Amino acid sequence: MEIAKVEPITTTRALRGPFDYRLPADMIEAGVGVGSLLMIPFSGRRILGVVVDVAAESDLPPERLAEPLEAIEAGATPELVRLGLWVAERYCSTASRGLALVLPPGSGTGKKPRTLKPLTERRAAITDAGREALRADERLGTKQRAALELLAADGELSGSALNERAGAGSVVLGRLAERGLVEQRIAEVRRAPRIDVVGAVGDGPPELSPRQAACVAELVRALDGEGPSERLLHGVTGSGKTEVYLAAIEAALDRGRSAILLVPEIGLTPQTLGRVAARLGDRVAVIHSGLSEGERFDEWRRLRSGAARVCVGPRSAVFAPLTDLGLIVVDEEHDSSYKQEGDPRYDARAVARHRAAEAGAVYLAGSATPRPESWDELARLELPERVDGLPLPPVEVLDMREVPGSSGPLHPVTREALSSLRETAGEGAKAIVMLNRRGFSPHLSCGSCGAAVLCPNCDVSLVLHRGRDMVGCHHCGHTEPVPRTCAECGSVSISRHGAGTERIEQLIGELVSPAPVIRLDADTTAVRGGHSNVLTAFERADGGVLVGTQMVAKGHDFPDVALSVLIDADSTLRYPDFRAEERTFALVSQLAGRSGRGDRGGRVLVQTLAPTAAPIAAAADHDAAGFLAGELERRREFGYPPFSSLLAIELASRDEVALVGAGETIAGLVRPALGPDAELLGPAPRFRRRGRYRRRLLIKTTEPERDVAAVRAALDRPEVTSALHGVTLAVDVDPQ
Ligand code: ADP
Ligand code: ZN
Ligand code: ZN
Repeated sequence: MEIAKVEPITTTRALRGPFDYRLPADMIEAGVGVGSLLMIPFSGRRILGVVVDVAAESDLPPERLAEPLEAIEAGATPELVRLGLWVAERYCSTASRGLALVLPPGSGTGKKPRTLKPLTERRAAITDAGREALRADERLGTKQRAALELLAADGELSGSALNERAGAGSVVLGRLAERGLVEQRIAEVRRAPRIDVVGAVGDGPPELSPRQAACVAELVRALDGEGPSERLLHGVTGSGKTEVYLAAIEAALDRGRSAILLVPEIGLTPQTLGRVAARLGDRVAVIHSGLSEGERFDEWRRLRSGAARVCVGPRSAVFAPLTDLGLIVVDEEHDSSYKQEGDPRYDARAVARHRAAEAGAVYLAGSATPRPESWDELARLELPERVDGLPLPPVEVLDMREVPGSSGPLHPVTREALSSLRETAGEGAKAIVMLNRRGFSPHLSCGSCGAAVLCPNCDVSLVLHRGRDMVGCHHCGHTEPVPRTCAECGSVSISRHGAGTERIEQLIGELVSPAPVIRLDADTTAVRGGHSNVLTAFERADGGVLVGTQMVAKGHDFPDVALSVLIDADSTLRYPDFRAEERTFALVSQLAGRSGRGDRGGRVLVQTLAPTAAPIAAAADHDAAGFLAGELERRREFGYPPFSSLLAIELASRDEVALVGAGETIAGLVRPALGPDAELLGPAPRFRRRGRYRRRLLIKTTEPERDVAAVRAALDRPEVTSALHGVTLAVDVDPQ
């Protein structure tokens, strides 16, 4: 007898699988094994389950073992089952949620399980008898003849094409088939994703520069098992990192191995995607959030079957069902979109490293602004110069403390920046202006009593969006009409404070007119494909200014940008977060990298109230090594990653009293369970969001595996269940 150990795919946290099922002979014959997807009977329902193990016997008596109802084609591989279970363990989630990550897209959980099916169509082809019938001018209906003639020219056509072009529906084709004049078959149709190509793509591979070639040679050595297999490619923006990735991917393919290229959230990187797809053609499958479910399913199956050997996509592509993996590349490895927000809160970079190590594959992280962790832990490859030989653009830091009233409502942009923008636009060149805040004004308050206009659900200001004529919350989506009077005192004097992208767009639009100003932020890209539409508009424009949030600093490449302006470089620095420095450095450097890629050269202006802050000063000097060395020192001193690991326990509730109680109970249980060197901070209050009060416990540890297990065990205690009444809990390992 063969027993399948099956993990049901459900969202219920309390369920403890796997459960035993008896495999009937036909399923064994059909190759059901670890990774197979089954429909199983489960407490009176049908649900999906994944085989995590196959055993010869069960602890249950045979008569109590049920049989699966159905085996579903194309499950995960055993390697992916191990990976899914590892993610569940490492990120303190459930086996079911970990496994759901490695299943074919669309494999539903919950009450109504479902699986996607390949899309098929009926196709017809002409037979020899059919050709003969045409030649001999046999008696045929008009539609029959028209269909045969089309088929004689085209060989094979789909039923829908024949219907459209010859009016030959299934009845007509059925007749022809009966007479042996055509043959019909059911064929799979690939739902191929559309790939937008924005910006410079280039045809074939360029000849690599000596430095690029040296990096590739090192990676090829690593593929062949020599030297470190985990690498950091540190290359300034425009140094040709993508070409190195592509050459390394080709080398992996040449060795019969497969590859994954992870890119930041895809909406932000249409260029990389277009370039890679253009170069690698059909061997590449893309998986991203803009695909329809059918497209995603088909791409997954192309990977699973081996038809595609390279997967490109954002973080979830790390779970691509590829065999013989040779290489995983993480492009822009500093990007925060590699961390998943929902349960399990996995970090695709850590998952990629683990998967590569297990598969004997090479792990390559690339960035102009690597994370301190990667700088510390990975063997480095360097591309210190731009491919085009141009110097990095000079960065001028504009000290906003010296501009009177500059942080006020009237002068969000310095006179110097304004005149440079006008000059650039006047010359017909392009400029980019970044301000990491969308909307028109981030704060409104009463001019008489000072009351701020706040979100009813969150402890934050409502942001004025003039274009949409409303104020809205960026945390919960609440919107209301723009207030004309103060809700507290009735005064009609409502003042606006600060500026967002919408306001800058207007201000600069007036300044540089008639040159166009194009805005790129979450508001202008909300529609599907919106991001590449906006970038394409800027690319095609003869000149003008792209205004936007940090989206403007990501991954695109426009040769004619001669000026970049960063407004309020400190906005990221003010976050109470140990990654604030690292993020600010990355943002300033990445924006600087967008400028001066063409013959016009480039200038970068950075407006800040903290001109001497290390991240800003170092970014202005293009000194990543200096910044990272200093930052690692600071991290060591305060015991932050990579010198420790962090683990957060997030609690939220509408009931503040219950929340405080839960925080104390959990802290009381977790503290004694931790290792001796681990430190527990909190529970600390965080701002109320979506109507829920929040607290956070933070654990610093040098032995994360031990303490994740300890936290998991502590949270399984019955006291916790009762303390969590009305309180939600999420564990975030390696919070970002
Ligand atoms: P990065 O990813 O480091 O920012 P890219 O790989 O995007 O840099 O390269 C920047 C530009 O230089 C791209 O347009 C790319 O096609 C081009 N490029 C890269 N390598 C070479 C090369 N060896 N010869 C010519 N052009 C190159
Ligand atoms: Zn008032
Ligand atoms: Zn809100």
